[in-house]
Amino acid sequence: MAVPRTYHIVTLGCPKNDVDSSHLERILTGGELLPVIQPEDADAIIVNTCGFIEQSQAESIAAVEELAAHKREGQTLIVAGCMTQLYGRQVREEHPAIDHVFGVGQWPEVARLLSVDVDAIFDIPESNVRVAGPSAYLKISDGCDAPCTFCVIPKIKGGLRSAPAGLLVKEAQRLVAAGAKELVLVGQDTTAWGEDLGMPVASGLPGLLEMLAEAVGPDVWLRLMYAYPSRVTPALIETMARLPNVVHYLDVPLQHGSEATLRRMKRPHSTEKVMRFIEELRRAMPDVVLRTSFIAGFPGETEAEFRELLDFAKAIEFDHAGCFTYSRQQWTPAHDAGSQVPDKLKAHRRDRFMRQQQKIAAARSRAFVGRELHMLIEGAGEDDDGSPVAAGRTYREAPEVDGLVIARGEAVAGERVRVRIEQSAGYDLFGRIL
Ligand code: SF4
Repeated sequence: MAVPRTYHIVTLGCPKNDVDSSHLERILTGGELLPVIQPEDADAIIVNTCGFIEQSQAESIAAVEELAAHKREGQTLIVAGCMTQLYGRQVREEHPAIDHVFGVGQWPEVARLLSVDVDAIFDIPESNVRVAGPSAYLKISDGCDAPCTFCVIPKIKGGLRSAPAGLLVKEAQRLVAAGAKELVLVGQDTTAWGEDLGMPVASGLPGLLEMLAEAVGPDVWLRLMYAYPSRVTPALIETMARLPNVVHYLDVPLQHGSEATLRRMKRPHSTEKVMRFIEELRRAMPDVVLRTSFIAGFPGETEAEFRELLDFAKAIEFDHAGCFTYSRQQWTPAHDAGSQVPDKLKAHRRDRFMRQQQKIAAARSRAFVGRELHMLIEGAGEDDDGSPVAAGRTYREAPEVDGLVIARGEAVAGERVRVRIEQSAGYDLFGRIL
């Protein structure tokens, strides 16, 4: 292989994978390789795959096939990440155009293959830290120790590994210096942060939030994603309510609302406990916005259990809720469970859930009309009449998952402005920049 000068990275999957890809970018640009926008211009193409569920694996394979079909002579195609951690040999055998296959956590090996002197770029210059729009992801941990019977993540990523607090503080400051106005904390389970470092749940994440809040100052938003229900403690709620820059938003994937299904999923929380901490969250932060996700059609799910899920979600009224059909994952206990729910029924239940949720979300959105909020501008331009208009996110919307607020008025991408919400339509909000 000739020494590569340019690279192109394709990232599939979740925000945690985006963070992993930016890490590779930082190593490659530190080694003086140049990023290119078009894959055909790259000497090396790296695909960072997702292996979470069948659908994500299929998307990853489709991306690899597309790149392989247009691969030109002398170009190197590298496939890495979660999917190849699980199915590396098979992927390579079935796609001979792939030159190299890596699993997760092998960026130094990928960089060495591309002739980057990894040891020499140990201290990557700050100017190489990139922020997309006004927000940046801060990955506080990787891996997971939970026993969820449907999830293959612990097999792909291994057990919990928390990043040291000092490193996270430094990284947070770098991201803010590069322009970030919001840090979105991600990990497979952010609330487990610090447990592997010997910290009790009550002081781990709350303590980290205190440190980060002090390090970045009161004007930078901190947003928590992927909380594990049984670790949403009074200490965490109190810290979120007290620190001025922790946004009143919590993403807590609950997976189901039936006790029987939750036990088969090996999820330790009870619906009663969830109801209690949600009450506490709403008492401490009356304006708190809640996001969750559920699985419809888990093995053995009866119509009665599914109805419990509907009733549970209706009782709580989540601002944002997703519902996925159960996807059988090799190497997980649920894969071999006898009572698989037929695909058609799973999809039907998911659609029933989403029809209910649309009404709830619309009512929750309507409650924002008349409020004045800060908004981070993602993009600005003109509408059909030539009037200035901007799209952005308030504390109510997490990047990439919750949509955008559209506001009339002048603004610059990356800025924080104040908006008045004037209208809601379905999930969406419309307003005016003040
Ligand atoms: S907590 Fe999340 S990442 Fe960990 S095993 Fe359960 S679903 Fe998977």
